[in-house]
Amino acid sequence: MIRTDTLNYEFVDHIPEQLDDGTLYVSIPYATVVHRCCCGCGREVVTPLTPTDWALVFDGETVSLDPSIGNWSFPCRSHYWIKMNAVCWAPDWSATQVRAARAFDATKKEQHFTNSNAKAPARDSVDAQQSRARARKENLWERIRRLILGN
Ligand SMILES: [Zn+2]
Repeated sequence: MIRTDTLNYEFVDHIPEQLDDGTLYVSIPYATVVHRCCCGCGREVVTPLTPTDWALVFDGETVSLDPSIGNWSFPCRSHYWIKMNAVCWAPDWSATQVRAARAFDATKKEQHFTNSNAKAPARDSVDAQQSRARARKENLWERIRRLILGN
C-alpha cells in the first residue's frame, strides 16, 4: 500500500469508472468529489458538496476540502484533511468521537433543512409585497403624469 501525500485534481462532468490513486475528481454538475482513499487501500471516497457536507475551495491552482475526511466505515479508518492538494494526516478517532461527530452532523443537517424551509416562504412573500407596492406607486405616478401632461 502506497500512501498518498500530494493530490492532483481533475474537473470532470462525470466521475470516471476507473479512478487513479492520488487524483481528486471534482464534478461541479453533480456537486461531488471522489478520490481513492489516500492510505492506499484503494477504496473510493465520495464527498458530496453541500452546505452540510463538504465545501471545496479551488484557488486556481490547488484544491482543499473542508472539514476533514474520516473513513470510519473502511477497515483502514484513515482520517485526513485535504489542504491545498496536500494530505494532512489526522489521528484516528475512538468510537465515541465518531458517534459524537455523526450526531453533530445529523443535528446540523436537521437545522439546515428546517431553517431553509422556514425562511424561504417568508422572504418570498416580503419581496412579492414590496414589488406589488412598487407597481402600485408606479401606476399612480403614471396617472398623475397623464393628468399633468394631458395624454
Ligand atoms: Zn484507506
